[in-house]
Amino acid sequence: MSRCRWWFASPRYNRWVGNVESERVTGASIPDNRSSLARRAVRSFVPGKFRPAVVSLVRPLLYRGNAVHCACCDGDFSRFIPHQGRPYAKCPRCGALERHRLLVSYLRERTDLFAGRLKVLHVAPEWCLQLELRRLSNLDYVSADLDSPLATDHVDLLDLPYSAGSFDVVICNHVLEHVDNDRRALDEIRRVLRADGRAIIMSPIDPASPSTVEGLDVHTPEERRRVYWQRDHLRRYGRDFADRVASRGFSVDTIRYIDQFDATQVQRQGLRRESALFSDDDIFICHCATAA
Ligand SMILES: [Zn+2]
Repeated sequence: MSRCRWWFASPRYNRWVGNVESERVTGASIPDNRSSLARRAVRSFVPGKFRPAVVSLVRPLLYRGNAVHCACCDGDFSRFIPHQGRPYAKCPRCGALERHRLLVSYLRERTDLFAGRLKVLHVAPEWCLQLELRRLSNLDYVSADLDSPLATDHVDLLDLPYSAGSFDVVICNHVLEHVDNDRRALDEIRRVLRADGRAIIMSPIDPASPSTVEGLDVHTPEERRRVYWQRDHLRRYGRDFADRVASRGFSVDTIRYIDQFDATQVQRQGLRRESALFSDDDIFICHCATAA
């Protein structure tokens, strides 16, 4: 069998084709599946470590235009692309979602992160944020995750290997709802912060629930998705989230930065998650209370 024929007969090729066909069939609710096709292709041919960089080069070619703007990579495109059922969510170049674009705008406009000499710990680093932060020569940047190839350090958030008072800033987005013991994680974050340091935290919040839902008799991924909104979520935070963080020794400011933008800007920059399930508009700035 020739090399070419071997490839077209291979399970990998047929699995990929099968996925593409499946998406064509089910794609009626998704207005644009070009990104999915590109993603399938990259997953098939490119090792995981290099995928974000390759996607950032290839996918923008499919979405040239000026209808939307991504604050993370400063790119203009014809549209944002579908992600987890949301039709206009992800940046074609850097993969930023609504919350990432909102956070970068906030960090750039309202903090000293882009100018101050700071030591930053980025927990569970997102490629789109990491790309921006690693470029900043004023930052001493460290990223940490249990096993992500994007992280410089592979560590357990519940038992960080850093000395007390090591960092000026800890960035922790959409992580706490995934860990067994979020209070222990907050204790660790606070421990590694300097006395005048702060944690910048975002999490999905259920605005309809006054308190956090957790500890239920929920065990399977499907049950967790139904009760906690995602297969790997271990709780569903309610409106008590800021109090919950404050109970671990932080002074918490809840920033509704999205209110700074009018409806046209929100739409063009893709800042609000189109989901009836939960809100992730709030940015929680958590100061070590001892600094007060
Ligand atoms: Zn982008």
